[in-house]
Parts: sequence; structure tokens; C-alpha cells
Amino acid sequence: MFEDKLQELNDSSLLRVVRDRQSPQGREIRIEGKTYLNFSSNDYLGLSAHPYVTAAASETLSAFGTGAGASRLLSGGTVLHGALERRIAAFKGAEAALLFGSGFSANAGAIPALATEGDIILSDERNHASIVDGCRLSKAKTLVYNHRDSNHLESLISSPARGRKIVITDSVFSMDGSIARIPELLELCAKYGAVLYIDDAHATGVLGGGGKGVLSHFGSAPAHWVIQMGTFSKALGSYGGFIAANGDVVQWLKNSAKTFMFSTALPASVVAASIAAVKVVEEDKGLLGRLWENRRLLMDTINGLGFDTGDTETPIVPLILRDVEEAIRISGHLFGRGIYAPAIRPPTVRRPRIRLTVTANHMAEDIERLAQTLKTAH
Ligand SMILES: *Cc1c(COP(=O)(O)O)cnc(C)c1O
Repeated sequence: MFEDKLQELNDSSLLRVVRDRQSPQGREIRIEGKTYLNFSSNDYLGLSAHPYVTAAASETLSAFGTGAGASRLLSGGTVLHGALERRIAAFKGAEAALLFGSGFSANAGAIPALATEGDIILSDERNHASIVDGCRLSKAKTLVYNHRDSNHLESLISSPARGRKIVITDSVFSMDGSIARIPELLELCAKYGAVLYIDDAHATGVLGGGGKGVLSHFGSAPAHWVIQMGTFSKALGSYGGFIAANGDVVQWLKNSAKTFMFSTALPASVVAASIAAVKVVEEDKGLLGRLWENRRLLMDTINGLGFDTGDTETPIVPLILRDVEEAIRISGHLFGRGIYAPAIRPPTVRRPRIRLTVTANHMAEDIERLAQTLKTAH
């Protein structure tokens, strides 16, 4: 049925394939019987295979079974769900929190519940696909502002609205590793009485004091009109999404966000892993230090190679390339030499790139090997 579409994708080198692992996530992974050095994971702290986290999951798996069996509004939730909500709310400095099945489902459900007819959403042009879908599902009018362009945002935010104004941004842009200008956004939102909705997916467990996220990175306390969304699926090594916000917002979402109301609760074992992961981040101060030390090492090591790394300020480091063919060639060169770093192509990004992610578990020699291999590809 889609033969011509698939052929078209194939002809323009845009056909994606799924490569499945035969090992846990980590600095090394096994694919089709071969071991690769891995620079493609968002498991920034290595928590998905951390013994304390996996033990919490397996103990809870034995105690509570596999599936949750129903949505939270029926019998799907357990005491662990409530405990994780209190824990993540405290971690984020918010009054309350609500769990969702995934980060994608948090955005797809919360945005249409928060912004409705008569409201205006202001969305950064490089926001994540789940935000774009959330905006499309909302009856609010969506205005897209140029990437990290506060002047453009101000020219749009000052337009009159019958209802609420909501500014939505990724905190760390997932394909660039750049950080949103949160202080300017806070100022504009305060000036125009807007709500700020921050997608902290790549900042939770990564940025700010103790990995608390982008607000902490900029030294801001969350105001009652700031909504923090996040995921347990990246630095926290587990799975599931959340919204941390004031109590009324959370109460409203329980009563209106369809992806919360009409979707089965997360398995208790997954929730237990998330609780354990937040605990590790709070208690193991060295972990975050190792991540940032490796990030510095990666930047220092590849700086001399002449790649365009854009505006990255985080463990996501793009090598922005001329065209799709070059991205595929370099990614293939690395793959052939045992290094996994896939090419990212349109429509995910406008400019093709290799997206490198470095983690706390990488060793100095891993980064050196990556740089040496890139040198022979360039
Ligand atoms: C990954 C990501 C999501 C989706 O989170 P999942 O838990 O993987 O569904 C949402 N927003 C951003 C910015 C992301 O990078």
C-alpha cells in the first residue's frame, strides 16, 4: 500500500531501519552479535542498569506482578504511584505531580487539557514532536516563534487573547543540546501574565543542582504559573512521564487529560525503578560530576576536528553535516569500526547530523577512540 512512499524515502536516503539490542543499555551494546561503543543513548547516568534501580524493579515485580490492569482512576494505581508523585514533586520543587504513561503521552494529554478554545499557545519552532502533537490536539490557537528568539516571542505574545496564554518550550533541545533562554521566558511570561510550560525531558537528572532541571540550572524557584513536564525514561533510566505543577493544575489534569484518564497506569515495577533512580540521583553526588566531566572531555577532544557542534551546552553533542549522504557515510564509517552513533535526518532535523550523547559511564579511552575514528572519517 505504501510502496511508492517507501521507495521515495529509500531513494532519498531517508528510510529508517530499527536495530534492536541484545544487551542492556550502556557504554557498550551488542547488536547482531557484535559489540559497539555506544554514543546514542539518553541513559545519561547509566541508571537503567544500576543494581539498586534494577533490584527495586525486580522486588516490586515479584510483589505486584507485571501489568497494572487498569487506569489510575480505576484500580491501576498502587501506593508506589502516589509515592513517586510526591517524590518527583519535591525533587522539582512543585506542589504536586501526576504520572503519565510516557513523556510523549504527558505532552499529548496535558497540553490540550491546559490550553483550550480562546487560549493562545506560543511554541518554539524546535519543540519536540510530542509538543507539536499536543498543540494540534488543543483547541487553542498555536503561534510558533523562531527558535530561542525572545524578541519574536514578545511580538507574538503581546497579541490580545480572550483566554490564557501559554508559552511552551523544551528546556534542552533534544537534537541540538542547546538550552532554552529560561530567564527571558520567565520575564516575558510574568510581564504578559502567561503560563510557562517547560519540557524538562533532557534536563531532569542532568542540569542544575543535583539534576533537578533547568529552573535550578538558572537558579529560579518554580512560580505557581510554571508547569514542569519531564520523563523518567532518559537520565532516570526507567520509563514514564510526569507533570509537576501547582495542586490545582494537577487536580485539573486528573480530571481532563485524556492520556491520563483513558490509559492504563504504569506497572508498579517501573514506578519502583523511578523512585529508586530519583534516590540515586539525590544521594550519589559523584554521578552527575562524572557525566559533566565526560561532556567536557568529549568537547575538548572533538574540538580540534573541525566539526560544527552548533549551540550545544549539554551531553547532547551534534556533529552538524553538509547533507544526508555525509551523515550516513560518517555514521556508517563509525559503525564499521564498532562505534554506534546514528545519523539524524530530516524530517527530525532540518540539517542532517550525527547526534552524540555522552554518559557518566563512558571512559576517557572511549571518547579518545571516538575522536580517533572520527578523524579518519572526516
Ligand atoms: C524524549 C522526549 C519526550 C518523550 O518522552 P518519552 O518518555 O520518551 O515518551 C518528550 N519531550 C522531549 C523534549 C523529549 O526529548
